[in-house]
Amino acid sequence: MPDLRKDPIVGRWVIVAKSRAKRPHDFESTPHVRHGRFCPFCEGNEDKTPDEILAYRNAGSVRNRQGWRVRVVPNKFPALEIEGDLNKRGEGIYDMMRGVGAHEVIIESPKHLVSTSQLRDEEPREVLWVYRDRLVDLKKDRRLVYGMIFKNVGAAAGASLEHTHSQLIVTPIVPINVEEEMKGSLEFCNYRGRCVYCDMIQQELAGEKRIVVDGPGFVAFCPFASRFPFETWVLPKIHSSHYEHIQNSGVDELSGVIRQVIAKIEAALDRPAYNYIVHTAPFDTPELAHYHWHIEIMPSLTKAAGFEWGTGFYINPVPPEEAAAFLRDVEVEPFESQDISIKGTG
Ligand SMILES: [Zn+2]
Ligand SMILES: [Zn+2]
Ligand SMILES: [Zn+2]
Repeated sequence: MPDLRKDPIVGRWVIVAKSRAKRPHDFESTPHVRHGRFCPFCEGNEDKTPDEILAYRNAGSVRNRQGWRVRVVPNKFPALEIEGDLNKRGEGIYDMMRGVGAHEVIIESPKHLVSTSQLRDEEPREVLWVYRDRLVDLKKDRRLVYGMIFKNVGAAAGASLEHTHSQLIVTPIVPINVEEEMKGSLEFCNYRGRCVYCDMIQQELAGEKRIVVDGPGFVAFCPFASRFPFETWVLPKIHSSHYEHIQNSGVDELSGVIRQVIAKIEAALDRPAYNYIVHTAPFDTPELAHYHWHIEIMPSLTKAAGFEWGTGFYINPVPPEEAAAFLRDVEVEPFESQDISIKGTG
């Protein structure tokens, strides 16, 4: 059973999971993405994954068999485990608790696709709806307070399997990055009486220079203080703090915007590895006036090194205004060829 440990100075929690680090050579080089070999996520290999938690299936198909469109299974090598109580305790000045949580994999297509941009028809919207379904279900567990949905594509972004999938890690504490956003946005709201994200959307739409996609209900832009080159955020224009409150119509539009932004990033940057994360409010909060859910998309183009680790500053060599202009101008086909590979997946 892994531990969650809190740094007493900055309040940062870490997962200490002994079982994940066996010998020093396990840490060598970047994770290797399996390429062109057996894939446990492809349709027909359902028996090679743990039992499914949820699947959107075609009529007449059976659990853990073929005939699914989107499938959720527990991670085979979970960072946190669902059984047991938290056993919160102290050791002198140190706080700790057991590593209770959930770690699920959302397999986004029965076909062996490698990126969100290749999802077709209903697939992308069903993936976004599965995110919602899993959050709604997991927030019933009183031990758990936060659901983090993220996606790694390509070895440089930490993917260990190339078949397009996202992950959901549900934790018994609010992750520090979200905590910082919550605190900062609350301060802004207390001072100005408005949501900082809503203000940001308004200013970006008025200024236009950092806008990537402007849809009726969603906007994508490169944030003013982007940490990474071509970092792009997608937000609903109507204020909402919890992703799981999204409606059907929202999912319809959001799936188009996300796919478009990712296709643009892939076209502009020759298919880099990338991550995206969904930042939403903690489970145990009501609708919040100061917090606004969003998706952050980050191509893996730079690497954090000593300076970043030491200071928390990131060095971004591409101004977001230039990145946004570039992404706006890139033409993307609505239906690309299925034959793509992501850099660094060799
Ligand atoms: Zn596959
Ligand atoms: Zn807002
Ligand atoms: Zn965020």
